[in-house]
Amino acid sequence: MPHDAHDHDQPHSLLPSDPALRVKALETLLIGKGLVDPATLDEIIDTYQTKIGPQNGAEVVARAWSDDAFRDLLLKDATAAVSQMGFYGRQGEHIVAVQNTDSVHKLVVCTLCSCYPWPLLGIPPGWYKSDAYRARAVREPRKVLAEFGVTLPDHVAVRVWDSTSEIRYLVVPQRPAGTEGWSVDALAKLITRDAMIGTGLVAGPS
Ligand code: FE
Repeated sequence: MPHDAHDHDQPHSLLPSDPALRVKALETLLIGKGLVDPATLDEIIDTYQTKIGPQNGAEVVARAWSDDAFRDLLLKDATAAVSQMGFYGRQGEHIVAVQNTDSVHKLVVCTLCSCYPWPLLGIPPGWYKSDAYRARAVREPRKVLAEFGVTLPDHVAVRVWDSTSEIRYLVVPQRPAGTEGWSVDALAKLITRDAMIGTGLVAGPS
């Protein structure tokens, strides 16, 4: 941190504003006071780093592409469908799956804050929580999509779904051509987080 830019008379200049350092300080304090157990903390961090993330959503979408009965259930009652696969818990209580088609592309936002299907996609990316994305996804979705590298033909309508703490959306992207007969595992590897938010498309095999 460049100290010369600071007013050294201000007490705050003694405390670095680096969030990581502040988190560490809080963690040390809470553990010191016996309010949290470090092993539990490590377990929570490990869960979100390795067990909960877009790979779960990708598995759900790949299965929906491969299994018509599962796809029908997913579109009818996504919470029940993904629970069957072991995906449930915090921020995953009321999930609704919306499917992209040849004529309608879906885009998910939370205009109020940052509601997001955690058990399927993990922790939301920074841009999802930004004021700019939350305002512009509704006002000018095509422009936002273009900035993500998604340009849709004019005949494809864009529909924006606004998440709330009551309903969290998962986009089921379109299955790319050239993947006929692929296994669920192979399909899942193609499916990105952004495709399940609607800010991306699933690219086929090159
Ligand atoms: Fe929210």
